[in-house]
Amino acid sequence: MLVTLRNDADPARVQAGMQRLGLWTERLSAPDGAPPFLLVSPCSAAVEPGAVLQVDGVAGVCVRPSPHPRLDELAGQSIAIAGRRIGVGERPILMAGPCSVESPAQIAASARAAAAAGAALLRGGAFKPRTSPYSFAGHGETALAWMRAAADEAGLGVVTEVLSERDVESVARVADLLQIGSRNMQCFALLRAVASARKPVLLKRGMAATVEEWLLAAEHLLAAGCPAVILCERGVRGFDPSTRNLLDLGAVALCARVHGLPVVVDPSHAVGRKDLVAPMARAAVAAGAAGLLVEFHPDPMQAKSDGPQALDPAELAALADECRTR
Ligand code: PEP
Ligand code: MN
Repeated sequence: MLVTLRNDADPARVQAGMQRLGLWTERLSAPDGAPPFLLVSPCSAAVEPGAVLQVDGVAGVCVRPSPHPRLDELAGQSIAIAGRRIGVGERPILMAGPCSVESPAQIAASARAAAAAGAALLRGGAFKPRTSPYSFAGHGETALAWMRAAADEAGLGVVTEVLSERDVESVARVADLLQIGSRNMQCFALLRAVASARKPVLLKRGMAATVEEWLLAAEHLLAAGCPAVILCERGVRGFDPSTRNLLDLGAVALCARVHGLPVVVDPSHAVGRKDLVAPMARAAVAAGAAGLLVEFHPDPMQAKSDGPQALDPAELAALADECRTR
């Protein structure tokens, strides 16, 4: 934002007035003795231009058009999902389940435990992106049917990942929320195909994506007809392998508290170890997260993927109480 001053304005007083609104400014001198311009730092609070115009001495305000106008319209709104609302001003919601949908019995037990912990949605991968081609990659469409049946029985919604354009229709038939995984955040053809299902999307942040790239991926979805996007921070690639990823809670606070957007946090993939999941979940809610996406397993030792980060049902219930998601 660039602010012009009236000829008779005292720039220092205008800067002080703007600082009271949470705006940090830099003075840029104008030619020919005209009053300086003030350049508003991007570290400033989100303030409407109308409020800036009220500051004594301000003559005009010039705002750079937003690169994600559709996303900006979601600011401050909540989204209806599986009988609950998610977003600013709502109690954080819990989405919980195993990393992978492994069998009808495993997902049914997971759905019962998730419901007992007050979760709104059952998570679980039917189509799994795996680093190694030899790892378990999910039971595909068969698992989608197991998952829907288990969720219906327990009164939950379903969130599950769409890995390929080919699977959009089958996933959209069973899921209340379609997940785009971290590895596919900028797979624009997939984003367009998922948007065409006209269902809300959970957009995981790419593991090396800037916040701006993440928001623009959300804009791609909205521009292609997706009705609502929920962002999901799941940790970015750090330099230190001590935890699986680096949980960027600053980005969560920025998206939630400055941009007013619905952002949930996945502490499980962020830290990769179960003993740190609950503390990071609490920190996420403190940062402004609108919800949590948490992996657990009825029998973590038997998990076919991501066992070390899976809570057991009792630990999930304790997390739900600590984070007040129920
Ligand atoms: C997942 O949530 O199942 C998953 C694969 O996560 P991510 O895309 O964040 O790695
Ligand atoms: Mn996982």
